[in-house]
Amino acid sequence: MAHVESAHLVELALRNATPTDADAEALRHIDDCARCRDDLRALTRVVAAARTAHLVDLPTAPPERVWRRINRDLSDEKPAPRLQTSALTPRGTRRLLATLSFAALAVVVIARWFRHERSKPVQ
Ligand SMILES: [Zn+2]
Repeated sequence: MAHVESAHLVELALRNATPTDADAEALRHIDDCARCRDDLRALTRVVAAARTAHLVDLPTAPPERVWRRINRDLSDEKPAPRLQTSALTPRGTRRLLATLSFAALAVVVIARWFRHERSKPVQ
């Protein structure tokens, strides 16, 4: 089996869906593949951090434009309602988690690209 796709690793880290046969196959691969295992471990840490994050964990609350930008980037919905509480709402938590997951996915893709580039013979 080829390495587990980055998007599938994110899904495995999120553990939001009922496991499928594809998940079982991916997990068997991950058991034998250090690269995929390391990527899944890193993504799982990001997900755990995001799920326990609160606005009080941030040095300052993000400005309203950040939430509008996140909302605009993640959906075609109207701009997000103004954040009125000092704690993340469940919807805000999901958005933050989705954003961090996309960031983690980007990190995995970049790390894989660097590994690929380093593995090329020097000319
Ligand atoms: Zn692998």
